[in-house]
Amino acid sequence: RTAPPRPHVVLVASPGAGHLIPMAELARRLVAHHGVAATVVTFTDLSAPDAHSAVLSSLRDDGVDTAALPAVPLDDLPADAHIETLLLELIGRSIPHLRALLRDISSAAPLAALVPDFFGSMVLPLAAELGVPAYLFFPINLTSISLMRSAVEVNDGAASGEYRDLPNTLQLPGGVSLSREDYADGFRNSKEPVYAHIIEEGRRYRAAAGFLVNTFDEIEPSYVEKLTKQAADQGTFPPAYPVGPCVRPSSDEDGALACLDWLDRQPAGSVVYVSFRERGLVHTAELAAGLEDSGHRFLWVVRMPSLDGENSDWGKSHRRAEDDPLAWLPEGFLERTSGHGLAVAAWAPQVRVLSHPATAAFVSHCGWNSTLESVAAGVPMVAWPLYAEQRVNAVVLSQNVGVALRPRATRADGLITRKEITAAVRELMDGEEKGRAVRRRAEDLQEAAARAGAPGGSSWQMLEEVAGKWKAAALGRQKQ
Ligand code: UDP
Repeated sequence: RTAPPRPHVVLVASPGAGHLIPMAELARRLVAHHGVAATVVTFTDLSAPDAHSAVLSSLRDDGVDTAALPAVPLDDLPADAHIETLLLELIGRSIPHLRALLRDISSAAPLAALVPDFFGSMVLPLAAELGVPAYLFFPINLTSISLMRSAVEVNDGAASGEYRDLPNTLQLPGGVSLSREDYADGFRNSKEPVYAHIIEEGRRYRAAAGFLVNTFDEIEPSYVEKLTKQAADQGTFPPAYPVGPCVRPSSDEDGALACLDWLDRQPAGSVVYVSFRERGLVHTAELAAGLEDSGHRFLWVVRMPSLDGENSDWGKSHRRAEDDPLAWLPEGFLERTSGHGLAVAAWAPQVRVLSHPATAAFVSHCGWNSTLESVAAGVPMVAWPLYAEQRVNAVVLSQNVGVALRPRATRADGLITRKEITAAVRELMDGEEKGRAVRRRAEDLQEAAARAGAPGGSSWQMLEEVAGKWKAAALGRQKQ
């Protein structure tokens, strides 16, 4: 007699490396440790059909199924449509294909749960249709979810056109004090059209039975319990389960060897790793000068200065292949720093770079995945947030967790200049007070992150609890 099929979890990843990679790791853990089968579903991005093939094939090696939904036409949308509009249209139009796939999977095994990421709240009604629990996966932190919850609560009962602003400062659980300038993009002004989208999105989140959040107790302490309890008491949002850090080494080998070879030749604990999408030419020039003045060794992943506000890796291939980001660096910079610095174009195997013994610090845009990768590797950060919810993350990391130094602009126009960059890098690398405290904290947090994800750790137990509920419910439905 063959064993009955395991209950099957279907995870739906919206486009973008920052969404797929942590979700892939979550799926791997569910299958390896928590007794369910899983399929990770992706959308077909016509402009970059192979963008994630390496991640997906590594997942299949880990025993997780993958499925790509057929392409849907988007050519009726305006050519200048915002990336988030494209994303939401893509997901919305793919729902019939997803429904068919779910029916297919459920004919072979009982469905345990449907888990779209936070861009996929439109998918939640499908779970109700099929009678399975729906959980949303958040590749962002609890503080950002809490910001969203505040926006939804402030707008309780408000109709479109009457949306209300958030107050100028928010006191969020866990002692996080957030001011308007640090709110995530779109949350600052209720008159902006994007604010309406955010409120509607937040309201849709309520259809989920729970949130799986890529964070862990020690990085957002006390918070976790409060958020879970308050949310359940007030019924605004479902309970949130911290299940991170879900960190997965990149399987994309492009350019990996050059970086790692170079790191192998540097002394232990000597290199500053720098990676984010530069905001513009001035920004790039200040960063280059700041790094050079710091006198420290560096590995810099240089991307095209983003002049158009594009903020996602999705559609990477829209950029012209002949565009060479290194050509945007200040004249003579590469020659002057060639003895102790390496600049690579576009992409580095970040998880492997961060965990290399030569890497000592990370100048980061504070994307939440990058943050967790740094924390998991015990690497302290210089926080230089640019867009999305990165300022929220920078506040948490520099003020609450104490694992990052955040340079502050002294110029009226808000530009952080070479002086502030040099000072922050030097303090982080050699400082005897602030720098030392942050370096120590990074070591502690690395251990805490490892504990959370190990068998019996807080995040491991959360996932076990949730998977246990899913399995019990799936068996219950089968018996009916
Ligand atoms: N990444 C990488 N190499 C790079 C740049 C990024 O491997 O040169 C990976 C990084 O490790 C992370 C993801 O891409 O897993 C970026 O996610 P994050 O949330 O940090 O940033 P965002 O999606 O907001 O840009």
